[in-house]
Amino acid sequence: MNKKAMYAISYGLFVVTARKGDSDNGCITNTVIQVTSEPNRISVAVNKSNHTCGMIMDSGCFTASVIAQNADFSLFRRFGFQSGKNVDKFDGYQAVRRAGNGTLIVTEGTNAYVSARVEKTIDLGSHMLFIAEVTDMDVISDVPSATYAYYQDQIKPKPEAVGKTAEGKTIWRCRICGYEYVGEELPEDFICPVCKHPASDFEKLT
Ligand code: FE
Repeated sequence: MNKKAMYAISYGLFVVTARKGDSDNGCITNTVIQVTSEPNRISVAVNKSNHTCGMIMDSGCFTASVIAQNADFSLFRRFGFQSGKNVDKFDGYQAVRRAGNGTLIVTEGTNAYVSARVEKTIDLGSHMLFIAEVTDMDVISDVPSATYAYYQDQIKPKPEAVGKTAEGKTIWRCRICGYEYVGEELPEDFICPVCKHPASDFEKLT
């Protein structure tokens, strides 16, 4: 079985936000899809380790801001490469406004938002799958949406395109954030220090 077949599936990118009490949080996901149109429903799968996941379970609502091609890498660093359990991702962040359901809409580097109320929750082990009815949505800009492939090619910083260091050592690169690990073998239990993805998301540079 060639796991690279999964890379051929096209994905959008979203900041999914939730609110609990006075606290806001958001995470980056590529799993938002429209599942019905009458009424409009979307689904989103959120990793249980994400702080946002528990907030959606508790509050029953969320907003997905659709990431556009003019998004800066700093948006991914802010919402994707740190945990809301440790930091306030919205601290000092101005490019937001509040949606009708109380969650925050990210208004920069995005082209639309969809707010939704959870109807069904399915426990998938590593992830919770939320199926939700759309309660509000609007277009923010006419910049095209950023796909996951677009992020990989155009937004993620480009490291040097060489397979070995100057000293001839092997380099492994995180496919998600571009972090580079130097060493002949990448430990099986290695976790990317930047984006927390596992060794299976690293590729050996050749
Ligand atoms: Fe990474």
